Amino acid sequence: MFLSNHTLNVLSIAWMAIALVIFPLLLKVRAPYGRHTRTTWGPMISNQLGWFVMEIPSFLIILFFYIKSNNITSFYFNIVFWLWLFHYIHRAMIFPFMTRTKGKKIPVVIVLMGMFFNFVNAFLNGAYMAYYFDGHSITLVMFVRLSVGLLLFVLGMYINIRSDYMLINLRKTGETGYKVPHGWLFEYISCPNYFGEMLEWLGFAVLAWNLPALSFFVWTVANLLPRALSNHRWYYEKFPDYPSERKAVIPFIL
Ligand code: NDP
Repeated sequence: MFLSNHTLNVLSIAWMAIALVIFPLLLKVRAPYGRHTRTTWGPMISNQLGWFVMEIPSFLIILFFYIKSNNITSFYFNIVFWLWLFHYIHRAMIFPFMTRTKGKKIPVVIVLMGMFFNFVNAFLNGAYMAYYFDGHSITLVMFVRLSVGLLLFVLGMYINIRSDYMLINLRKTGETGYKVPHGWLFEYISCPNYFGEMLEWLGFAVLAWNLPALSFFVWTVANLLPRALSNHRWYYEKFPDYPSERKAVIPFIL
């Protein structure tokens, strides 16, 4: 690997610092896709194609590092890589085409920004895991990390996917508008899909226990916390009878 362990760690710290700068900006500016989409952000492409193009680098780059690594026989290593690959098989190749967003568009600039994020994020994580992750002998501490991280990841992924499909199914085929979601975690928070996503990457950071994985969790929170607050406000503005006891993204807290 042409970058040392130390260099990847320094790059990950810099990458987290950028997330901390982006976070307050996202509290002010809503990324213009989905319900917040605007036509003033330049050329637009199909929403479903946009999501595919934006997310697929994360799958391909990690697959590349998985194949290149010498660690491929390690059980722990395989768990870490396959969780990532499984997540992005769904996010890039299944989720976009399950959405009921035919005819909807996403600005090209958002797709390019998403691709850039996915390139850097997958590169840092893939390179680190492929060349500097030692998963051959599992100590007691590693076993605890593996158990806690796996539990958080699987729980988060379940919450994320179940909530995404509850939202998607609010529309009948051909509909494009928005409705108030009800049931399950939606009784407590407006964005359980984001809550699940944050839990997922927290679990991944515990599992992988390195700075690139931590930087992915920090970025996920920096992206999704402001988005959840915007979505929550948007529901109150759009639906006067929106349940007042609901929080935005963390049950009973925020
Ligand atoms: P949203 O909750 O905005 O939308 C999810 C899907 O449900 C979209 O197809 C949306 O349609 C539809 N939908 C949402 N709310 C309603 C409603 N009230 N009525 C009818 N349909 C609705 O999620 P995002 O699009 O922001 O994100 C999609 C996935 O990507 C999530 O799982 C999220 O966690 C993940 N993500 C992860 C990030 C990260 O940094 N790790 C960053 C961004 C997203 P429409 O598109 O028309 O609004």
